[in-house]
Formats: sequence, C-alpha cells, structure tokens
Amino acid sequence: MSMDTWVLVTDARHVGAMLAAARGLGTPVTAAVVGSRALAELVAAAGPDTVVWVEQDAQIPVEAYAARLAAAVVLAAPRVLISSTAPAARVLLGAAAARRGSVVLPAVVDLAADGDHLVVQRSAVGGAVIETLETSSPVAIVFTGEDVEAPVGSPAAIETIPADLPASDLCLIRTEPAGGDSSGVRAAARVVSVGRGVKSKADLPLIEELAAALGAEIGCSMPVADDLGWISKDRYVGRSGQHIAPRLYVALGISGAPQHMEGIRDAKVVVAVNSDKDAPIFRTADFGIVGDLYEVVPALVAALGTT
Ligand SMILES: Cc1cc2nc3c(=O)[nH]c(=O)nc-3n(C[C@H](O)[C@H](O)[C@H](O)COP(=O)(O)OP(=O)(O)OC[C@H]3O[C@@H](n4cnc5c(N)ncnc54)[C@H](O)[C@@H]3O)c2cc1C
Repeated sequence: MSMDTWVLVTDARHVGAMLAAARGLGTPVTAAVVGSRALAELVAAAGPDTVVWVEQDAQIPVEAYAARLAAAVVLAAPRVLISSTAPAARVLLGAAAARRGSVVLPAVVDLAADGDHLVVQRSAVGGAVIETLETSSPVAIVFTGEDVEAPVGSPAAIETIPADLPASDLCLIRTEPAGGDSSGVRAAARVVSVGRGVKSKADLPLIEELAAALGAEIGCSMPVADDLGWISKDRYVGRSGQHIAPRLYVALGISGAPQHMEGIRDAKVVVAVNSDKDAPIFRTADFGIVGDLYEVVPALVAALGTT
C-alpha cells in the first residue's frame, strides 16, 4: 500500500485546509481535480506535489465522473483520501472509498501521522465531543477542519486523466433558482435565530413576536432544524446550512459553535442573548446580553413598542 494522500477536489472551497492537513502527514500529496482547467490550475498552485485532472464537460455533473476517478484511485492505492463536505466531492469520495476498500470517516477536524498509524480527530454527537481514532488501514476522510489560506508557490505539474465516461446519458438540461423558504433567510436584512436555548417548540411564537417587531426572518442553529425538526432545514445557518449576510443577526440561545459562526461571518451586526456569560458566541458578537431569553425577548419586544 502506498502511503500517499489523495485530496479529491470539485470546487475551490476548503482546498487550502485539505492540502494543509494532507501535507501535515509528511507523505506525497496528490490533488485529484474533477472540474475546469482553471480549477486544476488554482489547486496546482496551492501546494500539492502532483495534480491529476479529469476535465469536466460543463453539461455533465461531477458525479458522473465518480467511477473514472475511483478507477484512478485504485491504481494509485493511496493510504488516505480526503474530500471537503461539498456534496459532489463526497460522492467521489464514497465511490473511491468503496473501490479502494477504505473506511469513510465524516466530520474530521484534524489528522496526524504517528509512526505507521494515522490519528484522526472527528466531531461527534452534533459537535458536543471530539473522538480520536487510530488506524493503519486505508481511510477516506470528509474534512471539516478550520480553513486556511493556501500557500503561494510554484505550481505542481498537472497530469490529465481521460474522462472515459461510463455509458450514461446523464446531462444537465436546466439550472434555475430554487426559491422556497430559504430565499427569505438568505436575502433578509435582519434575522432572528433560534438555538437549543429555546426549550420547546411551543415557545416559538415568542421568538416570532420579536422577529415581527424587527421585521426579521426566522433562522436557527442546525440542531433546531436537523435534530428537533422545529424549523425547516433550509433555514438553519452555518457551515452546512445557509451562509447569510444580514445587517442584523440576533442569536437567541445559540452557543456559537464554529460551524454556526461560519454561516454569519458576513453579518454586519451580531447580537447574542445567552444565559451563560462564557458562551463562545460572546467572543464575536457585537452586542451581548447575558440573561434568560425568556426574560430578555419579551423585554425587547416591549421596548420595540409592539405590546
Ligand atoms: C460537520 C458539522 C457541521 C455542522 N454544521 C452546523 C451548521 O451549519 N450550523 C449549526 O448551527 N451547527 C452546525 N453544527 C453543529 C454545531 O457544532 C453545534 O452543535 C450547534 O451549532 C449548537 O447549536 P446551539 O448553539 O443551538 O446549541 P447549544 O450548543 O446546545 O447551545 C445552546 C445555548 O443556549 C444557551 N441557553 C440555554 N438556555 C438559555 C436561556 N434560557 N436563555 C438564553 N440562553 C440559553 C446555552 O448557554 C447554550 O450556550 C455542525 C456540526 C458538525 C460536526
């Protein structure tokens, strides 16, 4: 088995972080790019030893190239495969891992080499714990660690792999805006967001009252949509949800996990209400209110003059 690492790339997001993590293992790094020549060149300049590139036809989805890429991975037999959380990249990772016989590990935030072993840290239980795992077998990793700037250096050579598409007539015939609920959150100038500090779905009218007083859309943290199902999934904010840029973001009972804060990086003013004075969200909020949201929210509504 080769000790190499392959980083599978379908778009420019998180490339710096994935390549930095791969380089940290101290073994040769190949970036396998499915996409445009421009993407392959961008990745080549970001620090891999080699780039293998499958040119994507703009009318054919990246997923159609999964079998081709998996065949290339089997030939090279790298020890570690890494992808970002981008849906198409994860499809490539899954296909390559299945052919390669690698175990797939999601939500990996850090990895390191320890002699012959790979030590992997991943987030589990909705981000509440970090698990450390160790293996000497092939693994495929969905990397969610902190993003970093890619270094600027002399670009790696780009080797083209013929696409050799399978016998499929899958092609893209139309792209149009999805519309739906989330467009409200995405475009909103003000967002009031619900976290797990809200104790019950029956309490949502209290939050809606504040949103109405501010002329704001309702958003939420991931667990409120994903685990509790109180608010539709296209309204949760964060790394794996909506990335929004409102003028005002009011976070109610949200702790401020990095994955959540990523979604509001471009918000102009962040106001946090949290009963824990040490909640991480206070480190980045512009205005913080330490208090019980069940007392603070009615007071805000009253101050806004709607009751
Ligand atoms: C790969 C991955 C991707 C993720 N992507 C996202 C994402 O896109 N978006 C996202 O949101 N999360 C995401 N998460 C989950 C994230 O790590 C956190 O678990 C989540 O954001 C926590 O949600 P929360 O702040 O609502 O809940 P908690 O962390 O449980 O925080 C609740 C907060 O409410 C406060 N509180 C409790 N009672 C009150 C009260 N009465 N009044 C005021 N405050 C109160 C508490 O002090 C606490 O700070 C992701 C996790 C992983 C592993």
